[in-house]
Amino acid sequence: GQCIKVCTAGALKEKSNISLLKEQLNNPNKHVVAQLSPSFKHTIGDGFGISSGTDTSPKIISALKEIGFSKVFSTGFASDVNIVETSADLKKRLDENGPFPVFTSTCTGWINYAEKFCPEFLGLLSPCKSPQQILGSLSKSYYEESIDISRENIFSVALMPCIAKKDEANRFDMKDEYGNKDVDLVLTVNEVASLLNKKGIDLNNYSKFGTFDKPMKSDTGSSRIKAVTGGLAEAILRNTAHMIGEDPFSVDLKKLRGMDGIKLTSVVLGGKKLNIAVVNGIKNVPVILDMIKDGITEFHLVEVMACPGGCVGGGGIPLSEDPDIIQKRAEKIYSYDASSEIRCSWENPDVKTLYSEYLKEPLGEESQRLFHFHYKNRRTKRIF
Ligand code: SF4
Repeated sequence: GQCIKVCTAGALKEKSNISLLKEQLNNPNKHVVAQLSPSFKHTIGDGFGISSGTDTSPKIISALKEIGFSKVFSTGFASDVNIVETSADLKKRLDENGPFPVFTSTCTGWINYAEKFCPEFLGLLSPCKSPQQILGSLSKSYYEESIDISRENIFSVALMPCIAKKDEANRFDMKDEYGNKDVDLVLTVNEVASLLNKKGIDLNNYSKFGTFDKPMKSDTGSSRIKAVTGGLAEAILRNTAHMIGEDPFSVDLKKLRGMDGIKLTSVVLGGKKLNIAVVNGIKNVPVILDMIKDGITEFHLVEVMACPGGCVGGGGIPLSEDPDIIQKRAEKIYSYDASSEIRCSWENPDVKTLYSEYLKEPLGEESQRLFHFHYKNRRTKRIF
């Protein structure tokens, strides 16, 4: 009984999401834009028999245009913006001797956990919104200012691996000063796969290829590895090294890779020893919080991803019978990074343009206005 009830509710919700999308696509006054996240483009292929971890974005972009989307932007671009902002925060705290650690803020499952179970740590989280919300917010500001359509008529859809991202899009402060939501609708990999199936589009045998749209089209090796546990911390450290004038690849970050529940390493940057922790899976959060409370090690950067394996293990992705599926996706993504021409976030040409023409500087006034949000103490007693 319980299961049937839950499943029916899920199916109904999915149906209403898809009918909302259709309504918007059929409305001639609406300009419907999509954003495609790195973990989405590297996992949707699984449902179509494409080798695990393959970047399917050229096909999905073309399929989305066929369905009626006007533009398809890369959430990887916004991941690079988040990485630049978070590393600027880390550098600032290094310059000012704290407070530490900087906790990453891209994982919605982690934010929900922190607000409910350890709100005493909220002041340490990076104040920067997740890539999904950054892209949404820029769609209705930076992008809107470059076209002849008002933000009220832009409908922004995020294609994500994550069910929790639906709630994130509905948070009270994820909107602009006029009340326009950054992201109007979130669709998971599962939902888009079934939409494509219904339209008779089989990605495996689909031979039309598209590219992401300006001005938010480029991504980097850094924004790809962010989809895997440890990748965000690695990307932030590359960027921080660059900001203090050091070689981003001189520090050895291999210990941050792999599927262990807790990964620890130390690096020397700017003559200072930094202790880094990566929490892989929400159940491991108490381990690291206890270590921080004990005060034996001072951590400078802590990455938390709620889903084991990171976003490539997200709850909105088709289930697989292959026990090594997440590992395979991770390996493929690291190989994309290794062979990427541009591996670091600050080198993303669209990110450079965004800062030089619009934001001016990381953590600046415009970044604060568009990207900073407020955590809420929602303390709840733990029952597990
Ligand atoms: Fe969502 Fe899981 Fe990624 Fe967190 S790790 S953002 S909960 S898919």
